[in-house]
Amino acid sequence: MTVFEDLESQVRSYCRNWPVVFDTAKGSRLTDVDGNQYLDFFGGAGALNYGHNPDVLKKPLIEYLTRDGITHGLDMYTSAKGEFLSTFEEVILKPRDLQYKVQFPGPTGANAVESALKLARKISGKEALINFTNAFHGMTLGALSVTGNSMKRGGAGIPLVHSTPMPFDNYFDGKMPDFLWFEKVLDDTGSSLNEPAAVIVETVQGEGGLNPARIEWLQGLRDLCTRKGILMIVDDVQMGCGRTGPFFSFEIAGIQPDIVTISKSISGYGLPMALVLIKPEYDQWGPGEHNGTFRGNNPAFVTATHTLRNWWTDDTLEKETLRKGEKVEEAFNKIIGDNQGTEMFTKGRGMARGIQFEGEGLAEKVASKAFEHRLLLETAGPNDEVLKLLAPLTTTDDELDEGLGIIAESVRTVIGS
Ligand code: PMP
Repeated sequence: MTVFEDLESQVRSYCRNWPVVFDTAKGSRLTDVDGNQYLDFFGGAGALNYGHNPDVLKKPLIEYLTRDGITHGLDMYTSAKGEFLSTFEEVILKPRDLQYKVQFPGPTGANAVESALKLARKISGKEALINFTNAFHGMTLGALSVTGNSMKRGGAGIPLVHSTPMPFDNYFDGKMPDFLWFEKVLDDTGSSLNEPAAVIVETVQGEGGLNPARIEWLQGLRDLCTRKGILMIVDDVQMGCGRTGPFFSFEIAGIQPDIVTISKSISGYGLPMALVLIKPEYDQWGPGEHNGTFRGNNPAFVTATHTLRNWWTDDTLEKETLRKGEKVEEAFNKIIGDNQGTEMFTKGRGMARGIQFEGEGLAEKVASKAFEHRLLLETAGPNDEVLKLLAPLTTTDDELDEGLGIIAESVRTVIGS
């Protein structure tokens, strides 16, 4: 392990919680160099919705590499990109009656967010933005400026300006009518709010603690944006690609954002890839106005195409995700019922689920106890107070039972001690 401690920057983080050297992985399991197996309820922070190295993607990927298919393509036309685009239109956009132009930004969530913010400013000619409390949108400066977490913001080293935070759904525990403050300051010429170009929102805040926005709240936000001429950006980097059930997390609200950011599980294989979906009338980019060397990760396009063909041509996966999500919720409720002395509650939607612990450090202690039982889980929320389950959607019922059993045991041990 010393090579990592000696050479790798202090910035490393996940490896500090899981100090073993991983070697191989399949489905929902990783294996370390000593042959120990770990159950993965972390799912590459949402990038492995279909598990590790699924054969149905590995085979076409190997075939593509073997025939010397283009690997690096910038934004050149390639057969792999063409197939991805037509499959995306046929399997995802058309059946949902969605019309979006597809931008390939640099292959990370943060780069998709930067593109979306730049484009919104260009379209509107305004520089101000609205973000939400406890939002997370990435670690580059623009994305950080719309992110809530003070530790992450602090890393910027410069003032993060041009965005005003508004309360996310339920920020006041239901004590404030939705958008009371937002609408008031928008309408009040004495409020000092700069006219916003756009709002950027997650439908379920992943890093912020698995806070789900209600359907009515999302619809209210869409309506407010339409009435006030504000662009609506949904950041579906973590909750898109089926994590909450449907392909897009906003589908349950029947709304159409103006701009959508997608990344993490879009390639299906954990290969870097990102998309910005833009309503056609807002595709006002000039050629090359946002570019980047790694926009054409063609092997990712290949696996993304096969992901769509394999999992998204019917609603089997969506239904299974909802069913498994309910199963997790039930198991979490049982854990809460069995440990009445400590205040806990469940959070999330679909297969993005968590337990919030009221005691300081408890969620982290449970996650580290779970690791002793060889289960990977992370924490979320401004104080890491939420134990976060982001298991691959393809996790079997037996694996879910096994991991949920470890979580129950870990909670019992931590709270009992
Ligand atoms: N937006 C959201 C909602 C995210 O959850 C994340 C990553 N956790 C990002 C953006 C940033 O993505 P990346 O780490 O790929 O830059």
